[in-house]
Amino acid sequence: MKQRKVPLRKCVACQEMMPKRELIRIVRTPEEEILIDLKGKQSGRGAYLCGKLSCFKLAKKSKALDRALKSSVSSEIYDRLESDFVKVEDEFIQNQQAMTDDLDE
Ligand SMILES: [Zn+2]
Repeated sequence: MKQRKVPLRKCVACQEMMPKRELIRIVRTPEEEILIDLKGKQSGRGAYLCGKLSCFKLAKKSKALDRALKSSVSSEIYDRLESDFVKVEDEFIQNQQAMTDDLDE
């Protein structure tokens, strides 16, 4: 099997380069909604975060998402994203494990 180059993205909180599938994408949609895009299919400007709550908290503290999304993100939105983040964390980890055998992704 041919080795493919893994697309890397930078976590906006800790600035670490990570394979795309190990990051959670936050997107600002054309309708100016800011949400978690677990499938990576939503159009709009995206920002990536490690799938770790600690990185989300860091992003919130440093307002990294405001900069990455070029939009002002209110603390209400950060709070909502944080609770969504906790909810998707398990699903995200399961997806990652499922994808370990799936080299097409
Ligand atoms: Zn990070």
